[in-house]
Amino acid sequence: MFAEYSLPRLLTRVVLTQLPFLFLGLMLDQVAWALLVGAWWLLFWHYKQLIRLAHWFWRDRSLTPPHGSGSWEVIFNGIYRMQGKDRRRRAQLAQMLSRFREGAEALPDATLVLGQQGEILWGNTLAERLLGIHWPKDAGNRIHNLLRHPRFVKYWRRGNFHDPLELDSPLNDDRTLEIRIIPYGDSQRLLIARDVTRVRQLEQMRREFVANVSHELKTPLTVLQGYVEMMQMTSDPDSVLGKQYRAMEDQSLRMKTLIDRLLTLSRIEAATDIDFEHPVAMPALLEKVRKEAEELSDGRHELLFEVDPALWLYGDEMQLHSACANLVQNAIRYSPEGGKVRVKWFLQGARGRFEVHDEGMGIEPEHLPRLTERFYRVDRARSRDTGGSGLGLAIVKHALSHHNSQLLIRSRPGEGSCFAFELPPSLVSVRRNESVTGTSSTG
Ligand code: ADP
Repeated sequence: MFAEYSLPRLLTRVVLTQLPFLFLGLMLDQVAWALLVGAWWLLFWHYKQLIRLAHWFWRDRSLTPPHGSGSWEVIFNGIYRMQGKDRRRRAQLAQMLSRFREGAEALPDATLVLGQQGEILWGNTLAERLLGIHWPKDAGNRIHNLLRHPRFVKYWRRGNFHDPLELDSPLNDDRTLEIRIIPYGDSQRLLIARDVTRVRQLEQMRREFVANVSHELKTPLTVLQGYVEMMQMTSDPDSVLGKQYRAMEDQSLRMKTLIDRLLTLSRIEAATDIDFEHPVAMPALLEKVRKEAEELSDGRHELLFEVDPALWLYGDEMQLHSACANLVQNAIRYSPEGGKVRVKWFLQGARGRFEVHDEGMGIEPEHLPRLTERFYRVDRARSRDTGGSGLGLAIVKHALSHHNSQLLIRSRPGEGSCFAFELPPSLVSVRRNESVTGTSSTG
């Protein structure tokens, strides 16, 4: 159809429409006037077609454009074809949209589609049940005006959605929701809220069970330890009975260490709300760790501490102490006599970095990913001999995760290991004018 719409063809049409006027002009000997009338007639006809088109665009409610004639036929038919295509495309889109909605409705989570400013574009039925957000009633409202929990507002404003947020349901305090925000497309976001009440309840039950059992075991164990000590006092240490008493004492001591560690782990696991308001004096904390390490090593190792005395940290003192002490004590326990253990606490860029290097036995690469699991030990016998419980690195992992950090391990069998962690700049506090960098060593 469009092939017919060429310039020569249009010109031919113009000439053909003007021919009758030319003949009339020749007959009346008024060619110029006749051609002028012809031109006006042509102009009038084109304006008439334009008015028909404008009327159809703005007034006419019919779906199809008016029937065109002459050179306007191509234009009207073109519009008709475009309309047809548009209608088909819209039908396809509507079909896709309804499929997407059906899929999102079938999701077991509350789902909201959010625009650039957080305005609600769409939500499923569960969003109503879990978040109290009704779609389409709340369409166009901004999410942080509807979910007004201060932690959600802070999470939304920060704009870092890497980690999910856990929140009480706005409709029911007994329900815990895990909220994830996934950016997609052109500045749009998908908010997914999952009910994790049951999972959290089970976790809580497990934590409480371990903490209660450990606590309950502590009292009878202390009584037993007391009796063993008394019996040791009344018997010859070299006699068979004396040796048996010593073995009993060793085992009860091991059990006490295990219980203490389980309690520490439970306490750290439960303490998720860290007070980041007050800085911890890391140099003083590491001095304490050094003294404990010297006691454990009893002069069998060369201990070297390089501590930046100006580097403090916002965090929980007990948890940071547990993390550092466990790493240093492991380095001592898994190093041979005479081995060097180097501890460093320094500023790397804007981050605080803690490192413990040892020249011990090292660890095979296949064990590295599992070291922070509870009770995971590379060599059970060796761990037992060195007074290990298999809980030390699990404690470190939890303490670090509460400080937005994680354990970094580098190790080669036979060459030693380096256990390290880095704290984000937001937790670092540098007090340069108070002191200068210091090093201390013991051997
Ligand atoms: P444990 O109380 O047994 O030391 P941890 O959780 O502290 O338990 O450590 C887990 C395991 O990791 C240990 O059993 C040991 O095999 C290995 N490990 C930890 N630190 C070191 C180290 N510095 N050198 C070699 N192996 C280590």
